[in-house]
Amino acid sequence: MLNRDRIFAAIQELLDLAAAGEGCFAVVFVRVLGLREIRLRFGYERGEQAEQNARTRMEQSLRPIDQVHHAGDESFAVVLPGLRNRNHVLLAVTRLVSAFELPLVDASAPWQGRAVMGVVVFPEHGRTPDELCRRAETALDIAQRRGEQYAFDESTAVPTEIIYEDFRDAIENNRLQIHFQPVWNLQTNCLGGAESLARWTDTNNGTTSPADFVPFAEQSDLILALTRWSLNATLRYMASLPPAHGLRFAFNVSPRVFAKPGLVEELIDALSIWGVLPSALIAEVTETALVNDLDLSVQVLRRLRETGIGIAIDDFGTGFASISYLRKFPATELKIDQSLIRDIGTDEHTAKLVRAVISMAHALDMEAVAEGIEDQSTQDLLADMRCDFGQGYHLGRPEPAADFVARFSMQQPPQSR
Ligand code: C2E
Ligand code: MG
Ligand code: MG
Repeated sequence: MLNRDRIFAAIQELLDLAAAGEGCFAVVFVRVLGLREIRLRFGYERGEQAEQNARTRMEQSLRPIDQVHHAGDESFAVVLPGLRNRNHVLLAVTRLVSAFELPLVDASAPWQGRAVMGVVVFPEHGRTPDELCRRAETALDIAQRRGEQYAFDESTAVPTEIIYEDFRDAIENNRLQIHFQPVWNLQTNCLGGAESLARWTDTNNGTTSPADFVPFAEQSDLILALTRWSLNATLRYMASLPPAHGLRFAFNVSPRVFAKPGLVEELIDALSIWGVLPSALIAEVTETALVNDLDLSVQVLRRLRETGIGIAIDDFGTGFASISYLRKFPATELKIDQSLIRDIGTDEHTAKLVRAVISMAHALDMEAVAEGIEDQSTQDLLADMRCDFGQGYHLGRPEPAADFVARFSMQQPPQSR
């Protein structure tokens, strides 16, 4: 029997009991950090021994009715039946943590293991073995990313289910929408342009967030189609503005498309078809994505820059780009992530950091753009820090591109960015 079949069968049994009125249970995915290192340092035999020890330790720390199943490399699924509330789950989680207080291998090669856990509770977090396990694994990833011992499922963190064919049809049949969010010049207090953001609203599925469908597109083969669609739709709206509007429009590019040969030429063609000047367009690329394939990204970005298109490093401050990376990118703008901007009014240290990032951007001949400005005092602080541009709910929420264009066209003369 496969690990998965065994785990699903155990959960299904509890679901059947629950249907007969037998209450709540929990599933905990446990990753035992250290097992892989033991295998690599001390050999496969010791590695297997340590894995067996880990399992026995967990079983001994729990009640006899609890089950520990091997789930894969370094990981286990623990099924905890008959729980009365969340506190009972926490008790089990605490015991699992202390199960790893002693080294996992014998005295000749002592090596410490550490458990990281993702927790889901039935019925709160799911109603099928598949859903419960997926959510528990997602919670485990969250715990590991945050450096915490455990995390409960946060339903919003679980990606919404997207049907490939639905999404492909929506792109092919032009059923996505473009929203524009204004970008404001903080020094002159004038509109500078907008960022183009895709939306997918469907009669069957309601509204799906780009935070869900962009990663889905990146992981399937739809990212190129999405990027083409987004770019053309953005250019179409730009072309409908009065001439000499003086605004600049940013669109998001996933570096996954950088590997496509002829991409830059395609972009130049699209600009000439719509009669849009390259200098009116800014390609936004996220910092994290850039670092993933540095050489290719630098190559493509340089060629894009040569055409006259602006380049923005998006979400700066959330990834791990170092100063030496920044030196290589031909970027014209640095977009400081909203997670940093949010705290500048309350946290002196973050404020100093943002001030320094703005100076750094200027020293590298880039303009600084602040994301996520949600109140006047944050806007004032940033203007005082000499931040060039700003974006956020306080300055304007994303709105249908047609509304943005109509409003701007009514307010002549144009303002310049
Ligand atoms: P992003 O490029 O960093 O875009 C900014 C996001 O922050 C947008 O979310 C925007 O609605 C949100 N935002 C703006 N101001 C505020 C604020 O004051 N407070 C808060 N809490 N949020 C604010 P959105 O539209 O959900 O987009 C999420 C991400 O999806 C974007 O992040 C971008 O990376 C990606 N994305 C959106 N459209 C496209 C697209 O057409 N193609 C690609 N490749 N990615 C896209
Ligand atoms: Mg962006
Ligand atoms: Mg951003």
